[in-house]
Amino acid sequence: MPKAPLTDRFGRTIDYVRLSVTDRCDFRCVYCMSEDMTFLPRKQVLTLEEIARLARTFKSLGTEKIRLTGGEPLVRKDIVGLVEEIGALGLRDFAMTTNGNQLTRLAEPLRQAGLHRLNISLDTLDAERFRTITRTGNLQRVLDGLDAARDAGFKRLKLNTVIMKGRNDDEVTELVEFARAKQVDISFIEEMPLGEITAHDRGESLCSSDEVRALIEQRHELLPTTDDTGGPARYYRMADSPIRVGFISPHSHNFCATCNRVRVTVEGRLLLCLGNEHSVDLRRVLRGYPEDDGHLRQAIIDAMDLKPERHHFSSEGEVQILRFMNMTGG
Ligand code: SAM
Ligand code: SF4
Repeated sequence: MPKAPLTDRFGRTIDYVRLSVTDRCDFRCVYCMSEDMTFLPRKQVLTLEEIARLARTFKSLGTEKIRLTGGEPLVRKDIVGLVEEIGALGLRDFAMTTNGNQLTRLAEPLRQAGLHRLNISLDTLDAERFRTITRTGNLQRVLDGLDAARDAGFKRLKLNTVIMKGRNDDEVTELVEFARAKQVDISFIEEMPLGEITAHDRGESLCSSDEVRALIEQRHELLPTTDDTGGPARYYRMADSPIRVGFISPHSHNFCATCNRVRVTVEGRLLLCLGNEHSVDLRRVLRGYPEDDGHLRQAIIDAMDLKPERHHFSSEGEVQILRFMNMTGG
């Protein structure tokens, strides 16, 4: 099938899709979920076949990069089968974001199934804190999962770390030393105002990328790189280590002009921008035309016109985006 790249009204080419494969999770991280989350009824959730069909259709429209996320992708039954199906599409880059809790069991099968890369979330190296932040998690299990991922042959592993004032901002340098020792990249993410949570006040807990960078630079000089992922991440290197240190600042606008990505929620809602409500119901098209991908292709192509020029986040005052992170796919 000829490639028909997706382009929006602002001339941006969309070749990166994040697919959420579940809204469920085995953790309840304080910045992501409330303690007593209600999850979606099963029939509202896309089937694995529907998710694979979406991946195939996006690939036929020029998508080169797919990331599976959630919720926690590894709690979805037969996630390995889905990875195998998407892996067979021959994408340039096929990645997953996970909390790492199931990796001792699944790292090897995922690698065998054709997954290229893993991002593993890790906010602290202190077991008690880890339990407090995730509300249910066991730190050692995740650390073992990271080792299992390395043993399985995953290259360019990356840690994702959300830094919050008063919770883990005193661990920034320790986390960087850990990443250096394990030879894995690390990205520090600014907390985003998604969904109403009760565990802490967002205005107070926000720790900016500039603050985190300053903490690291007390010990290591950070050398800017030109690596550009078309997203809100900026990468740095250190003279004496091969790892990259990234800073993800979703509040800044300086990445919107080169934004190359869209997201699909587990309900099949195509989100054109993380910080806006513009969306298209692809589940309706998937289920309305089960045998005919033409409608699905056209719905995706038409949706590009809805992609807004820039996002509208704020960490002050009202929560503007009422979806939880596990719904949008982080
Ligand atoms: N469960 C997987 C995990 O934790 O890696 C994948 C989904 S999770 C929603 C994806 C990423 O979003 C994680 O690295 C998590 O730390 C981050 N995240 C969740 N809520 C966030 C928020 N409010 N602001 C910034 N990052 C957030
Ligand atoms: Fe689960 Fe990931 Fe959200 Fe934590 S950040 S509650 S691991 S989906």
